[in-house]
Amino acid sequence: IFIPLLGGLLAFYFYSAPQSFNEGMLRGKRVIVTGASSGIGEQMAYHLARMETHLLLTARTEAKLQKVVERCLELGAASAHYISGSMENPSFPEVVVKEAETSWGGLDMLILNHIGYSGSSGFNFFDGNVGQVRKLMETNFISYVAMTTLALPMLKESDGSIVVVSSMAGKAGSPFAASYSATKFALDGFFSSLRHEFVMDKVNVSITLCILGYINTESAVRAVSHVIQGTPAPKEECALEIIKAGALRQRELHYPPWVVSAVVLLRGIAPEFLDSITRSWYNVENLRRS
Ligand code: NDP
Repeated sequence: IFIPLLGGLLAFYFYSAPQSFNEGMLRGKRVIVTGASSGIGEQMAYHLARMETHLLLTARTEAKLQKVVERCLELGAASAHYISGSMENPSFPEVVVKEAETSWGGLDMLILNHIGYSGSSGFNFFDGNVGQVRKLMETNFISYVAMTTLALPMLKESDGSIVVVSSMAGKAGSPFAASYSATKFALDGFFSSLRHEFVMDKVNVSITLCILGYINTESAVRAVSHVIQGTPAPKEECALEIIKAGALRQRELHYPPWVVSAVVLLRGIAPEFLDSITRSWYNVENLRRS
């Protein structure tokens, strides 16, 4: 029963979305990318620049954003600028969305990708720091809701798209990342509910939830490579797949596809089996020494 069911679900997943992406689809579109100073966000900015979009990039580190914007202009962006600040600050989402409104008078795509970090304990056993969980909720979840709420009038006008970058840790519990995992589960709950409401209310704004596995960004490799087994997937390809999924208005992206789809499926049909293989991926000895 398991193999045909798996095959059927994967076939449905891959063939239910329109498959014909072309780079011209995004030419001239106005796009906000959060967390664009490094990692997957930086790579998304470069792909979007090659596709000749207008870009507004954001993160905290101004020096890095300046360099990314320069590179985007070299790569062919229709325009590119940045605004620096922290999403831990509840008033920052308004500053970013206002900037788009003032510069462009509209918005076609909102890519929510930034994440804050789990404080001094980092990737480790939960240390009981409730204040840190609250802070991470603000950065990784509440700011996504605020950005969406503020940008929605412009997105409704353009029949635009919202792209939310999440993780396998937002579909299945993940040891040593309890707070992070909680923020990613919250994204799924909120945005999957909002998607229903958009359909019922005839709001033509797509929501694409991106469920990512282990990707070779500097921060992820630094945080987990000594503890997790397996080779991370390339950030450049991951970034392109996210953009394609957003442009095609796909409901969910699973990347790398087979790993993530298998985890999501097992979570539904054999959660205890998934739990035991999940735990076997981690080298706890290394964690305790780190
Ligand atoms: P990076 O650490 O490389 O990038 C994170 C970005 O967020 C940076 O631009 C950073 O810039 C910005 N950022 C950090 N803190 C804040 C803050 N308080 N306010 C605003 N911006 C902030 O992460 P990745 O590229 O690896 O991850 C990108 C997305 O992919 C995240 O949503 C992550 O959860 C998801 N993901 C990644 C995986 C991986 O293995 N890499 C696996 C699963 C999901 P600055 O420090 O300048 O503010």
